[in-house]
Amino acid sequence: MTVFSFPWRLLLRTFLPPLHRFVFALAATTLLFGASAHADSGYTKTRYPIVLVHGLFGFDSFLGVDYFYGIPSALSQDGARVFVAQVSAANSTEVRGEQLLAQVKNIMAITGASKVNLISHSHGGPTIRYVAGVAPQLVASVTSIGGVNKGSRVADILRGAVPAGTLSETLVNNAAKAFVALINLGSGGTSLPQMPTAALNSLSTAGSLDFNRRFPQALPTGCGSGAELVNGVRYFSWAGTQLVTNILDISDGALGIMSLVFGEANDGLVSACSSRLGTHLGDYRQNHLDEVNQVVGLRDWFSVDPVTLYRQQANRLKLLGL
Ligand code: CA
Repeated sequence: MTVFSFPWRLLLRTFLPPLHRFVFALAATTLLFGASAHADSGYTKTRYPIVLVHGLFGFDSFLGVDYFYGIPSALSQDGARVFVAQVSAANSTEVRGEQLLAQVKNIMAITGASKVNLISHSHGGPTIRYVAGVAPQLVASVTSIGGVNKGSRVADILRGAVPAGTLSETLVNNAAKAFVALINLGSGGTSLPQMPTAALNSLSTAGSLDFNRRFPQALPTGCGSGAELVNGVRYFSWAGTQLVTNILDISDGALGIMSLVFGEANDGLVSACSSRLGTHLGDYRQNHLDEVNQVVGLRDWFSVDPVTLYRQQANRLKLLGL
């Protein structure tokens, strides 16, 4: 779990010689004064802390780069208290949900807040729904972005390609674990248990149906909006429905190829209908990685800024008294 702050002193001490350090500190102080003045707007100043929750193969920050690229700072600079959770990069929704629940309780202890606002991407959708389902009294709102709420066709195909109990499943599991180990090395999440095939099961259509039977809160029956308020928790979602959005982003090609298996509007990994939860706020010209402003801010520069959507949502929550 990361409390959003930057280790300026360590950075200065390590990398800058004395004179440059002084000039840099002067510039940083000026910037900080500017930031303080900006913070007065209170646009994102929600009553309850915001907790950002990553998706499959996700992390809080990797070698200093946010999973939610530039988003924690954009929320905190106008008053929100922001925490970035780190749960298993690859594991079942229930395992990730229990990890998140423990972190939510820690955040409440640190801040004295009685609830949190949960905002998530991809597999983070079911993960935060789990917490809202088992502990609704701790959750003010759930916002699912590109959430795998009714499964992913990509997960179905991968699960079909690596049937349970086969040698190929063992090989794929080990390869995915090695990949996750790399993620953890850069993000400090090495103590978290990883089980890639359990993640795949959770993200498949069958696994999602099973989960949804136990956690049906705010899911629409079709492809519209679901209930906004369930057990005192407000539910929202938005999604991306565009594949290639920036020719400089190397991930666009892979997402574009994966999108071909859907046969319906999707973001490359999740169909627009699967992402629906609570009040659906809209579909945008974004692919699955654009939804978290990746890779490093490369998105459709002629469409709405993904960071703006997060700020607007924080403001929406603030106006609701959450
Ligand atoms: Ca992108």
